[in-house]
Amino acid sequence: MNDSVADAPIFDPGQWQLTEQQASLSALARELGKSRFAERAVRYDREAAFPTENFKDLHESGLLGICIPEALGGHGADLKTYMLVASEIGRYCGATALTFNMHVSSCLWTGPLADDLTLEGPVRDELQAGRKRHYDRIIKDGAIYAQPFSEGGAAAAGKVAFATTATRTEGGWLISGKKIFASLSGHANYYGALCTELKDANDTPSRRNTMYVAVPADAEGVRVEGEWDPLGMRGTVSRTLIFDNVFVSKEALLMPRGVYFSAAKEWPHMFMTLTPSYMGIAQAAYDFTVSYLRGEMPGTPPVKRRMYPTKQLAVAQMRIMLEQTKSLWYQSISEAKTSPDKESLIRAWTAQYTVMENANEIAQLAIRTCGGQAMLRSLHLERLYRDSRCGALMLPWTAELCMDMIGKAALYKPGETDE
Ligand SMILES: Cc1cc2nc3c(=O)[nH]c(=O)nc-3n(C[C@H](O)[C@H](O)[C@H](O)COP(=O)(O)OP(=O)(O)OC[C@H]3O[C@@H](n4cnc5c(N)ncnc54)[C@H](O)[C@@H]3O)c2cc1C
Repeated sequence: MNDSVADAPIFDPGQWQLTEQQASLSALARELGKSRFAERAVRYDREAAFPTENFKDLHESGLLGICIPEALGGHGADLKTYMLVASEIGRYCGATALTFNMHVSSCLWTGPLADDLTLEGPVRDELQAGRKRHYDRIIKDGAIYAQPFSEGGAAAAGKVAFATTATRTEGGWLISGKKIFASLSGHANYYGALCTELKDANDTPSRRNTMYVAVPADAEGVRVEGEWDPLGMRGTVSRTLIFDNVFVSKEALLMPRGVYFSAAKEWPHMFMTLTPSYMGIAQAAYDFTVSYLRGEMPGTPPVKRRMYPTKQLAVAQMRIMLEQTKSLWYQSISEAKTSPDKESLIRAWTAQYTVMENANEIAQLAIRTCGGQAMLRSLHLERLYRDSRCGALMLPWTAELCMDMIGKAALYKPGETDE
């Protein structure tokens, strides 16, 4: 690690009353981000290349196992701790934070979140045995898990059963289907895929029979297809993944059958894990602006622009949006738990919407305020701007779907209709 001076935390441990663990893991992420990820982010973005070196660092630093229970070799972090840590990574490389999220979700969902569910004894035993197998690979070998859910239909929004199927066969299942936007494709060791279990080819697909399986990347029948040349979040390498009759044994289950369906219903805040990357980007765009207007941005002439009232007003506007975003997000991740009440759920959707939209709004204000020289590709502001636009598109809680759910929940009580 080099000697670069650390940035101030996004969430100051004293002011936001962080636990010791939250403070120390966030500091570790910030140090890695500042000293290593920030510089590498330029190439990952230019070449739309996967952040392999960053994942090696995440493994060596122990962060790859952040949500793995301590007894199994990890840090045992809960959702809130993970979110705070990931936001610090997002400040320096959005694509690393977003792919880190896909990986960590495989542990968070099967670990601390599943522990909160009411499960029958044998189901819990099966969960324990399964996760030990997956976690060992992560801790010992640095294995990386992807999270390919999206299929281009309504399944990733939670409206219909996944079209990717797992048909029972001798000793396991045969997985078939297509996943689009599979971040980490060609780079993950396992694809944590959601699919619908079928007893046989004539079975009717049901969301209740959703299975969460770890498909080994090198299994026969797994293929990565298509170009990857997007607007932003280019280092995520979110190409198309094909499963063509891929055999997986029972050991591939990440959660016992039926548990994912319960988790998605009972632990809805789990879908907020896509936000920390964008929380970090919002902070980074604000930091850039302050540094640039003070004439302190490395790589630019030391010209001060802070004395103009229009600049001061714009920074005030950005700061107000940043504080609103941080406060709402912090409250929402602090109250995350099983079976949240309606108010808490509406707040979670509101926080999701706010982070995703405000990150982009703050980045675009940053470009307008700093001016033409600041949007040259030699600086990172234009990348923040492009990356920030992607947040609102992430299913199942896209900005549009959040508005849809907030409006309906605010106007209707459970079971109410207009007939
Ligand atoms: C950088 C990046 C990385 C990604 N990584 C992953 C990943 O690792 N794994 C993964 O599974 N997915 C990933 N995604 C995919 C993402 O979660 C969405 O599935 C994807 O952006 C949807 O694109 P689409 O064109 O198919 O959207 P569509 O399904 O066509 O939806 C377009 C818009 O319509 C709205 N909409 C969709 N469904 C409904 C509905 N039922 N009712 C009302 N409105 C609706 C939503 O606002 C949505 O944004 C990634 C996306 C991006 C941009």
